[in-house]
Amino acid sequence: MTNAVYWFSNDLRLADNPALQRAVHSEDRLSFVYCLDPALLRPNHFNCTGLGKHRHRFIIEALTDLDKQLKHHGQHLSVYYQNPRQVFTELYEKHQVRRIYHSVNAGYNEQQFFSHIAATTDTSVTAVHSHTLFEPADLPFMLTDLPETFSKFRRLIEKDQRPLLPAGKAPGQLPPALYKPFNWLKVLREPESGSDPRFNGGETAGQKHLNDYFTQPHAQTYKETRNALDNWAHSTKFSAWLAAGCISPRQVMSALQQHETRYGANDSTYWIFFELLWREYFQWYAHVHGSKLFQFRGINGINNHKPLTSFYPERFQRWCHGNTPYPIVNACMKQLNATGYMSNRGRQLVASCFIHELQLDWRYGAAYFEQQLIDYDVASNWGNWQYLAGVGADPRGSRRFNLDKQTQTYDPEGEFIRAWRGETDGRNQNIDSVDAADWPIAPGKRH
Ligand code: FAD
Repeated sequence: MTNAVYWFSNDLRLADNPALQRAVHSEDRLSFVYCLDPALLRPNHFNCTGLGKHRHRFIIEALTDLDKQLKHHGQHLSVYYQNPRQVFTELYEKHQVRRIYHSVNAGYNEQQFFSHIAATTDTSVTAVHSHTLFEPADLPFMLTDLPETFSKFRRLIEKDQRPLLPAGKAPGQLPPALYKPFNWLKVLREPESGSDPRFNGGETAGQKHLNDYFTQPHAQTYKETRNALDNWAHSTKFSAWLAAGCISPRQVMSALQQHETRYGANDSTYWIFFELLWREYFQWYAHVHGSKLFQFRGINGINNHKPLTSFYPERFQRWCHGNTPYPIVNACMKQLNATGYMSNRGRQLVASCFIHELQLDWRYGAAYFEQQLIDYDVASNWGNWQYLAGVGADPRGSRRFNLDKQTQTYDPEGEFIRAWRGETDGRNQNIDSVDAADWPIAPGKRH
């Protein structure tokens, strides 16, 4: 008999998880594993960690929920706080695991990890798509011909009018486990995050939020409210659950369609689909471009224009802490640091400030987002940063927002700025505290 494991990553759910279904149907004995790599909690070469306290807390909640659900089926989850390669070696040697199932992950490192196992051992690795609306075969183009812009991608998808596969149910029965449960929660320790408790990790909480959102009228006005800088109901807030895979994009589409049948379809309900297509585009974009997603010059490498290279440690720190000369940026960054969330508009503004006003290397901004965001998703984050830095999927080059104008439009009364203490004072009116010759710049003197 061959021993098999199901390896969870950003698919922390039982329902509508085709990869998990495949494993459950194919195996007589199966264990469920998740690996939390301690390296993610140590500073990387951008001096940020790959997993900050907000998402860390969310993931532990999601794992706890998953374990609870598996236990209802007489199974359990094994969470390893260890390097994935060591975990694989232990599974291979101690439990003779020779088959692994997992959901396809757009992350380059994750793909490399599984490819390495398949190439260097006698373990068979089965990967199934469960993080996207479509599978490659359902797309109206070959993945190698992914349109270079979102608009072209969307037009092709909409023209094709292929019905979406319905969201699948959770498996009714699970095969027995290979080995006994151990107390992993004791080792993991949930960090104090201070994030909004409504972002409660897990499939159960995610399903509840999905149902709550669509049984209220918010979706009917989504298009008008989605750009607001604050307010829970002004956008869907599905992102954290989608990123960790506690809910699937197909489940969102199916709940959206039910909402439309009940309350009517309009521009706003369509716009939720439109935004999910942005997500979808960036997922396939990450698959196609692999490690180029993280490259300074972006997907076109040396053929691309060279973005700004200078690195100013003080500017970076001040941006991270919300201490720049731009009140709207400060407020957004303080909101991010305190809650792990920032609106889409806020993300565009702070990224534009980072790239254009502070003239910093965009990858550091993306890395800081990776650390802070509760909804960090490798494809959406790095894809959006590339787009704004003008080295990604944008035919118009980099996008610069007029921060004063944006403040007038989205925070005309200054409520948001006051709420998050974004105002500038004598100490942060300049971008730098010293000039090129290291002389202090007098407060109030615009640099
Ligand atoms: P809604 O407005 O309600 O949108 C519904 C869903 O559509 C979202 O949950 C999300 O899954 C998807 N979506 C919406 N806008 C985008 C977009 N521009 N790109 C991709 N998907 C989108 N989103 C993440 O999920 N993870 C990230 O790490 C991330 N990093 C970002 C970095 C930058 C610089 C920018 C500009 C955007 C980033 N986004 C990211 C996209 C977007 O800001 C968030 O998805 C959105 O703000 C989440 O809130 P919501 O769920 O209420 O979104």
